[in-house]
Amino acid sequence: MMDLSRRSLLLGLGASSFVAPAAFARTDARIVVVGAGFGGATAARTLAHLMPSARVSLIDPAESYVSCPFSNLVLSGDRSLTQQTFSLVPNRFPSLRRIMARAVSIDSVARTVSLSDSGALSYDRLILSPGVDMRWGAIDGYDADAVDAMPHAWKAGPQTRRLRAKLDAMDNGGTVVMSAPPAPYRCPPGPYERASLIAHYLKTRKPRSKLIVLDAKNSFSKMGLFREAWAEHYPDHLEWRSAFDDGRVSRVDPDAMTLETDFETHRADVANVIPPQKAAAIADVAGVADQTGWCPIDAVTFESTLQPNIHVIGDAAIAAPMPKSAFSANLQGKVCAIQVARLLSGLAPEPTRLVNTCYSYTAPDEAISIVGAYSNEGGTFQQIEGAGGVSPSGADDAVRQAEAAQAADWFSAVTKESFG
Ligand code: FAD
Repeated sequence: MMDLSRRSLLLGLGASSFVAPAAFARTDARIVVVGAGFGGATAARTLAHLMPSARVSLIDPAESYVSCPFSNLVLSGDRSLTQQTFSLVPNRFPSLRRIMARAVSIDSVARTVSLSDSGALSYDRLILSPGVDMRWGAIDGYDADAVDAMPHAWKAGPQTRRLRAKLDAMDNGGTVVMSAPPAPYRCPPGPYERASLIAHYLKTRKPRSKLIVLDAKNSFSKMGLFREAWAEHYPDHLEWRSAFDDGRVSRVDPDAMTLETDFETHRADVANVIPPQKAAAIADVAGVADQTGWCPIDAVTFESTLQPNIHVIGDAAIAAPMPKSAFSANLQGKVCAIQVARLLSGLAPEPTRLVNTCYSYTAPDEAISIVGAYSNEGGTFQQIEGAGGVSPSGADDAVRQAEAAQAADWFSAVTKESFG
């Protein structure tokens, strides 16, 4: 457990652990960044700031970015999707070129990226922050065609709108069934924040309805705190089944709206299937994903251990025990940019400290959090024991409400830094 003064100290560590930008070389090096989400947008901006004479290209087909963080509040009707949407067009940096295209192939020998608009870019250093893809077929019957009937809403945008519309259209008395994935996956506490907010929606708007969470795991991030909140707020509206308790979904039928575990078939009025995940497809194409589907990296530079001159940050990277979060992706974007600037300037990379804070809403005005601090000495990530912690258990409403306000401040800061 952690008191608030220690928390403030740790949050400060995130910012102050940056190596102050030394005099980086005035080089016209070519740096290509693929993916303009929390990791990529931050890396590209930081590099454009640190190396004004370099040529930084930021590639993403999207005109705007829809944020997953806070999208669970859209599902509960407490935020709009518009509030989640950030334009990717503004660009304060002359050396940063924004290219609206998809990276379709990467030649790591010739050091080129081919684009969906038929263009190609050469690079000295390439940074990939492409996020995740779903592992279609990992749950029998759950493929790309099933997402209309059983939305995952694990990439914010049309999927979020669809799940929200289904919850809205459901009769009072209906059953919502969620399938939570095995680790590792994007946002470890995300399914449980979502469960809390859907349960809140049902309790306040459709009180005869219920949410059943079928889980492929036996434990999860902030489990004690979530279960405490569920017992207090949603005893009649939320049931969680662990893998041990026959929670693992192995098959779905989108036509019949059923989810099957080893021993039971659950019929859903609304189904939210969050499937197993892996690094987005371009990681495979680039040859930086291993047999796990994720990308091994050197923890100091974020350079792939499989391909030289290609760095991987954010959800796609194997950075455990750092979680796959927007907080991590944003910080990794900054740290990776500094290391790339050092490498391009002939300076040795420097280990640093990193932090992560994940806030989760347990009701629209209450939140809990977990903080972790990490070192990357020796090229691997390690948790710094004794630093970090979780919100106190048994806290009163005022503490949870204060954390909800801190969560909102964090969201405003991280989106401004990444996209503003
Ligand atoms: P992304 O943000 O997904 O960005 C990837 C970008 O790459 C996308 O814009 C995509 O278009 C682009 N791209 C992919 N392939 C290509 C290609 N071939 N060419 C060009 N561009 C490409 N994190 C938190 O810290 N706090 C939270 O409260 C939180 N809540 C969450 C709630 C939910 C419901 C979910 C699903 C996630 C949540 N997260 C949260 C996690 C967070 O969303 C991710 O960890 C974060 O978005 C990772 O950033 P990224 O840059 O790795 O990937």
